[in-house]
Amino acid sequence: MESVASFLASEHPTAFSFEILPPLRGNSVEKTLDGMRPLLEFKPAYVNITTHRTEVSYIHVGGGSYKASTAQKRPGTVAIAAVLRERFGVRPVPHIICGDYSRREIEDQLIDLSYLGITDILALRGDRERNASSFATCQDGHLHAASLADQVVDFNNGRMADGTSVMSPERPFTFGVAGYPEKHEEAMNLHTDLLHLKEKVDRGAAYIVTQMFFDNSKFFDFVSRCRTAGITVPIIPGIKPLTSLRQMSLLPRIFHIDFPTGLSEELLHCTSDEDVRALGIEWATAQARELKEAGVPSIHFYAMHAAQSVAEVARRIY
Ligand code: FAD
Repeated sequence: MESVASFLASEHPTAFSFEILPPLRGNSVEKTLDGMRPLLEFKPAYVNITTHRTEVSYIHVGGGSYKASTAQKRPGTVAIAAVLRERFGVRPVPHIICGDYSRREIEDQLIDLSYLGITDILALRGDRERNASSFATCQDGHLHAASLADQVVDFNNGRMADGTSVMSPERPFTFGVAGYPEKHEEAMNLHTDLLHLKEKVDRGAAYIVTQMFFDNSKFFDFVSRCRTAGITVPIIPGIKPLTSLRQMSLLPRIFHIDFPTGLSEELLHCTSDEDVRALGIEWATAQARELKEAGVPSIHFYAMHAAQSVAEVARRIY
């Protein structure tokens, strides 16, 4: 299997890819796999699998007492990547996050992936802890994705987290990073966000996948600013069909994005999730059609709770 990076750099029609989340701890992986099955029909060029930091939750232990429990709520990224490749023959792209993982723990994930022959990854800082005001990591963790990128490149060159040198892996990792057409929430402005994005590319990222957006002009503007700043790698737009009334306030709040006026006006007329789902399919189809006509290398679909809608959009576009 060629790498995602070399596939994206090659001549090809606009490809289809999507992202799935591992199931919540203790839930069936088969349900997750069944959920994405309708999307396989459209021959995804690759499938991303998210990774989640450990979180503290409080478990009721009776008598009004609670016990703190620290666990990764959605474990299993590496295993799901292997299952996707073995069972469905798709190219998996597991996410590696700084999160609250030490360099050693990240190195262990790279070793597991390397043994499995899975060498496409998305390198991310990861979300901050729920309810935390800022991102924090553990001692010996990374504060920014650029520093994680350095670790991956070091690993490719046989340099381990403790500074020792070993044999380089047979197949080096290639990786993409995240970009934000509407700016990352913590960035001072679009300019500094772009400087930090360029830093990740300069440190070895082979492509960029964007945060979801609903206004294509924001994506086209982002690409143009990237090119002016000297970022030449492929830029993959990320889009999501809306599926519920709740998302009207949830998505802008969580992802720090704006809905364009045309979409918000239509959303105001929706009175049920069914209405939103129908509008979401129409809107995402129009976005995808325009992006495809503009010749983007791939369209990345955020498929969480939206697999049926993504399948409908893909049916119309691919
Ligand atoms: P960074 O590139 O580190 O940037 C974070 C912030 O720091 C930005 O504001 C940037 O401008 C700033 N910055 C960067 N470098 C510096 C520096 N040297 N000095 C000062 N400021 C700096 N989250 C998960 O937890 N798991 C996932 O699986 C996951 N998948 C994602 C997939 C995609 C395609 C996208 C777009 C996001 C995903 N996220 C995921 C969310 C992502 O982890 C968050 O948006 C996170 O807050 C930032 O990650 P990053 O890799 O962009 O961070």
